[in-house]
Amino acid sequence: MMILRTTAEMRRQSRAWHRADETVGFVPTMGYLHAGHMSLVREAAERCDRVVVSIFVNPTQFGPNEDLAAYPRDFARDEALCREAGVDAVFYPAVGEMYAADHSTWVVEESLTRTLCGASRPGHFRGVTTVVAKLFHAVEPEVAVFGRKDAQQALVIERMARDLDFAVEIVVAPLVREPDGLAMSSRNKYLDADQRQRALAISRGLALAVRKYERGERDAAALCATVADGIRAAGGEIDYVELVSRADLCPAARAEGPVLLAVAARFGATRLIDNVFLG
Ligand code: AMP
Repeated sequence: MMILRTTAEMRRQSRAWHRADETVGFVPTMGYLHAGHMSLVREAAERCDRVVVSIFVNPTQFGPNEDLAAYPRDFARDEALCREAGVDAVFYPAVGEMYAADHSTWVVEESLTRTLCGASRPGHFRGVTTVVAKLFHAVEPEVAVFGRKDAQQALVIERMARDLDFAVEIVVAPLVREPDGLAMSSRNKYLDADQRQRALAISRGLALAVRKYERGERDAAALCATVADGIRAAGGEIDYVELVSRADLCPAARAEGPVLLAVAARFGATRLIDNVFLG
């Protein structure tokens, strides 16, 4: 398994594979890998001859009061997991490799980023779309795999790839949960045992909302209250619980047609997100 630290090296390797008629599948991550990430690696491996995982904690997608410095990092462990999974190359650039000191060009998606995490984390998606565009230029993949855990992010990346003519197929893979239902996340490491237990209110609330939906509940306020009440009762602080249309991520008053029920909530200082698609 290669570890490549510069965009030039990464691109040279990818072009060598392409010259040998091999396709490249790409999984961008911020590291501290877990089974959710590794499921994306398997998706990429099923579709492509070569798999590249990037590990880059992207500073431009963190707000000034967010957890950039504290974000969990363990490259040795990530490297071992990638090796075990048969990854061909890990792209592991330093911040200075990705961003010139006077970097001043940004990729901004202006529609799907208006709600949910786009509203609660100003500037977040500008950092995400910019870094993913840069990573696509470095890796030049045929396929890139994203997780439905970050449902809005996946839709924003699909939109960016379409709008800016990136020659990459975006694949969105299912959300992977812990056995008790908690959505897997690198940030789960921050939770102490009590918070970890209380945070189950998020996935339980979503599961309860799905059951109500299946029994015919279509009212957005009722579906959102099902989730929000449980989180509040467990001592969580809600950032948002929202029902939005799958097509444009605008708030939906009723769960008619494809919709996304999305949550962001804090347990202690840890902000967790989760979601379900309905219809
Ligand atoms: P991150 O390292 O958190 O930036 O995530 C990198 C990629 O892994 C993103 O496409 C995420 O959506 C995906 N991912 C993270 N957690 C999960 C999960 N529990 N299930 C599926 N995909 C995930």
